[in-house]
Amino acid sequence: MSPNVDELVDRLLADKPPAQTPAKEFLGEQFDRGLAWLHYPKDCGGLDLTPKDQARAQARLAAGGAPVSGHKNPIGYGMCAPTIVSHGTDEQKHRYLRPLFTSEEIWCQLFSEPGAGSDVAGLSTKAERDGEEWVLNGQKVWTTLAHISKFGLLIARTNPDVPKHRGMTAFLVDMKAPGVEVRPLYQITGEAEFNEVFFTEARMSDDLRIGPEGDGWRVAVTTLMNERVSIGGGVARRGGGPIAEAMKIWRERWKGDTSPHALILRDRLVNCYIRSEAFSMTNQRASQVRRAGTPGPEGSVGKLAFAEENQRVFDLCVDMMGNDGMLFPAGYPMIRPELVGMSNPDPRKMFLRVRANSIEGGTSEVMRNILAERVLGLPGDVRTDKELPWKDVPRS
Ligand SMILES: Cc1cc2nc3c(=O)[nH]c(=O)nc-3n(C[C@H](O)[C@H](O)[C@H](O)COP(=O)(O)OP(=O)(O)OC[C@H]3O[C@@H](n4cnc5c(N)ncnc54)[C@H](O)[C@@H]3O)c2cc1C
Repeated sequence: MSPNVDELVDRLLADKPPAQTPAKEFLGEQFDRGLAWLHYPKDCGGLDLTPKDQARAQARLAAGGAPVSGHKNPIGYGMCAPTIVSHGTDEQKHRYLRPLFTSEEIWCQLFSEPGAGSDVAGLSTKAERDGEEWVLNGQKVWTTLAHISKFGLLIARTNPDVPKHRGMTAFLVDMKAPGVEVRPLYQITGEAEFNEVFFTEARMSDDLRIGPEGDGWRVAVTTLMNERVSIGGGVARRGGGPIAEAMKIWRERWKGDTSPHALILRDRLVNCYIRSEAFSMTNQRASQVRRAGTPGPEGSVGKLAFAEENQRVFDLCVDMMGNDGMLFPAGYPMIRPELVGMSNPDPRKMFLRVRANSIEGGTSEVMRNILAERVLGLPGDVRTDKELPWKDVPRS
């Protein structure tokens, strides 16, 4: 008989009241009781239950004021953990999942390179075997939170003689190891959430490899599918999320105004509201589909809509703010934040931050390609290099 999820959650909240328990201790206990990810196996912070049970427990924990693991460690929680669960060895699961969940060890994702973003399978960072070790050379870019990360999930080229998708291998990289250098990259907001990461003769033992040699693409696909859901798969309560900010500004500045300008803004607001609701319902439907397990193309549809809606809503917010919309009271502090996209929720800051939504986690054009091919069944994108050995593909 399945355990009663509500009872398990209530017992945790009673034994470790969130208001009096340090977050790390609470999350550790949550993991040990299998309430971290209920749908994962028992040795992975789960109870072998269903994603529906997980959603139920999460809602109950949130209502009870429990700390949220993914808040501090979004890439570890949303992308690296499911990848380790799907492809890691028992030792890797045992070593990495618990401190990832408690956020004692922050994680980053080392996929994109200056010459390989949308076409991540074209990457050229090299890992060469040297006995029981691998030697890593190359550069990654746009690596979110690399500056505070203890580990990174990296895809490297291990065989240049086969077509690009077949010659890659995945690794768990110690970000503090000799030969790993992290440099900040500043964004339009003035903050540096992300970084460049350089590898120069960095050595990793073979037990940091995740999945078989040459199977890096399969590992990467697990990460990317989960990334899209992690970025765009959230379900806001009715009228919640960014649209709530727009409604607030409209009420404060325009409510009762019957000028043509106000009516045009009201039209845009209603349009945004309807779209936000439709987006939220689409994500609810997609989360039902995901109950079976691995996220599919519906994650890409959600990610596309997330980017477009966020940009549409924050455009409207700054328009409704008139001249105030042009001021950015926090200034450009040039900080390296420890949280992603949340260090200042001011709509003017968010207007700038959401520009990245249509790039990060796969661009909107690439999401449209996935939507066209895998949902609508249209002919595929032109891929001339698919069967060529990677070393023979022309690159700049
Ligand atoms: C805020 C932020 C955080 C990020 N964090 C990370 C991270 O933590 N780790 C990580 O590995 N990466 C990260 N990225 C990188 C991100 O995944 C890439 O920027 C993205 O995949 C696009 O790659 P690119 O920048 O190289 O653009 P390119 O791939 O060079 O694309 C340039 C343009 O060409 C278009 N294009 C490319 N291919 C096609 C196609 N086949 N069909 C139609 N149009 C196409 C694109 O849509 C885009 O408009 C982050 C990016 C941002 C903005």
